[in-house]
Amino acid sequence: MPPSPERAGYFAPPYLLLLLFLRARGIDGWPFLLACAAGPAVFAWVLADFLAAKRGGGRVPPWTPLLAWGGVAALELHAAFPAVAGTRAVPAALSFALAFRLRPAISVPSMIGVAAWIALMASRTAEGAAAGFASIAALALPAGAAGFFARKKCDSPRADEIRARETIAGSRCLVLPWEEPVPGRGSAPGEAAGELALLRRELELTEGIRGALERLLPLIGAAHVAYLAPAAAPGSSCHEGLVASLGKGPSRAFEVPDTFVPVREAVVFRRPFREEGPAAARYVPEELEIGGRPTGIFAEPVFRGESVEGVLLAIREEEGGWPDCAASLLEFVAHFVGRDIERTRLLHQAERYLLREDWYHRMVRNMVRVGGAEKGAQESLPLRRQKVYAEAVGQLRRQVGADRALLIGTSDGGKTGWITWEETESGAGGSDLPEALESSYAGWVIRTGSRRIITETRGGARGQNILPPAWTKACEKSFLLLPVAGVGGFRGAVVCCHGEERRFHRQHAETARDITEVMQLGLSHVGHLEMLTKRAETDGLTGLANRKSFLQRLEAELERLDGRHPLAVIMVDIDHFKRINDTYGHPFGDEVLRGVSAVLGKAIRRGDSVGRYGGEEFVLFLPMADPVKAVEGADRLRRMIRQTKFSHEGKEVAVTASFGLSCAPGHGNRPEELLKKADEALYLSKQRGRDRVTLYPG
Ligand code: GH3
Ligand code: MG
Ligand code: MG
Repeated sequence: MPPSPERAGYFAPPYLLLLLFLRARGIDGWPFLLACAAGPAVFAWVLADFLAAKRGGGRVPPWTPLLAWGGVAALELHAAFPAVAGTRAVPAALSFALAFRLRPAISVPSMIGVAAWIALMASRTAEGAAAGFASIAALALPAGAAGFFARKKCDSPRADEIRARETIAGSRCLVLPWEEPVPGRGSAPGEAAGELALLRRELELTEGIRGALERLLPLIGAAHVAYLAPAAAPGSSCHEGLVASLGKGPSRAFEVPDTFVPVREAVVFRRPFREEGPAAARYVPEELEIGGRPTGIFAEPVFRGESVEGVLLAIREEEGGWPDCAASLLEFVAHFVGRDIERTRLLHQAERYLLREDWYHRMVRNMVRVGGAEKGAQESLPLRRQKVYAEAVGQLRRQVGADRALLIGTSDGGKTGWITWEETESGAGGSDLPEALESSYAGWVIRTGSRRIITETRGGARGQNILPPAWTKACEKSFLLLPVAGVGGFRGAVVCCHGEERRFHRQHAETARDITEVMQLGLSHVGHLEMLTKRAETDGLTGLANRKSFLQRLEAELERLDGRHPLAVIMVDIDHFKRINDTYGHPFGDEVLRGVSAVLGKAIRRGDSVGRYGGEEFVLFLPMADPVKAVEGADRLRRMIRQTKFSHEGKEVAVTASFGLSCAPGHGNRPEELLKKADEALYLSKQRGRDRVTLYPG
């Protein structure tokens, strides 16, 4: 890209000093001529750029470099040609132009500089220079004064600008809501009320901007003033906003394409755009439908911090060009609008945070309730776990506004996974069917531990492999993927999906992370409860169910079978255990107990249950086993115990056990009844010589 001559004006004074220096040192030959050629050359370059920009229809470059280097070229002309110098027209014209264009603080020293430069270039003696200066000043002074008065005449009165600033600064519309206190913690609104408060703030902001636009209209003599911001619709390439028009009642909404030159200038190049006269009409887009013929257009970027938030656009229809105060007033209003937006955003954030706190606390409470050992809570632990998943995934879907939210579990670090829980608009549930995750984004997120926000899917969700094909929905376009991992906690990922593009942002990922953290908390609660329950239900020595939990299971099973199917209860008692204890010591007795439990635990089928009933007594129930099958099974167990080798100090010790059976529904349907009858049968086994199986008679 060629360098822009925009800042070339700054180099004109040093260049003139350089010429003066060469002249004073008596350097007259070709180096001086070469140096003299530079001035007109730069002027030609600046002029060419200026004309090219005007012809190109883009933004018109500033006048300052053109004037500065035009002045340099004119001064050189003056110095080189005595005929021109004799008229003293160059210093006079420059003085007029300087006084007309610049403030006196700058124009007066510049005028003196011009006269001194001419005088010093023309004469090598001090007296000659002084005489030259006086003769130039004689004409330049009145020309400068004329320039100054012309400037005064064209300038809009300064008092007007001050008055205008005061009106705007005093306007309540612009001071809007930021003085309102943020609702305190105690009065944090409910969710719906909170959303309404946000909406109200949005309206207040719009009203404030509308008020500012309407006030600005007469102050700068504009027919229309608009505030434009990038359109919120995903994928839109428009700026939209409010336009206030003189004598047209309330402001209207409208939009222009992003390519609209003044808007592009303000947004992309972050600088004001100004055009006057017939050229202005060229910049006014048809979308604006303003009707009249514009004579001026002005666009001012509205900054929020470092970034451009939107654009203030003013259109003039009266002849005469923009008043001088227009630039500063637009800048001033742009500053206030930017500040208003900034403040409103902060309030939004604060209120959103309070709202979030509200649902967040509610979720934590729910998790504790689900995970905690509540009085009277009869739910099984897997059910509690599911409740935690359901609460977290449901909350996630609501808080990030997703069409579908999934919790993916994995046990091999992301190679395969299953849907632990999924919620859509139509329902929720989980599935433990594993799917390969390796080539999907979901797997990548789990493996690398990094989150991903996918704003659009070119070629559809299927082509992008965000989820395994079986879980993919072709209509979904935006995704939020977040790994879930914690020491000893759930491992996998959460995925939020939406049918529209650009639905998820960074703050959604943060909300999702907060939710997964609470979920881990809930799961850890359930895990803790699981451990406590297990401890309370199992026998410490053998690891079998203890008497209490065995009875509970038996009761539940009898209830389930409801007398329609058989169930066998078997009591087992080790024979002469007292003797084993006495002969080989208690530790060996314990070993025998563990050995027998291991045999019983391994031998039973799925659905059967075994527990330690007392010291060396065990108890089993076998659902769906009729008396014949139950006796067969018990005898098999008896033989297995008998065949188990126990040895004490190298000496083999034979261990046998006696069995007593009762069967539902023939022997009753209540646990106590069945246990009592099995015990009686066991007693019979003992009486009949031990190491045998006896079915309750009758
Ligand atoms: P029988 O054949 O009539 O059942 O004779 P037995 O000796 O097995 O009967 P009894 O019920 O009199 O003896 C049970 C013994 O089991 C008494 C107790 O010292 C012992 N015992 C109970 N609990 C444990 C235990 O946890 N460890 C060990 N080593 N012994 C235990
Ligand atoms: Mg006993
Ligand atoms: Mg015994």
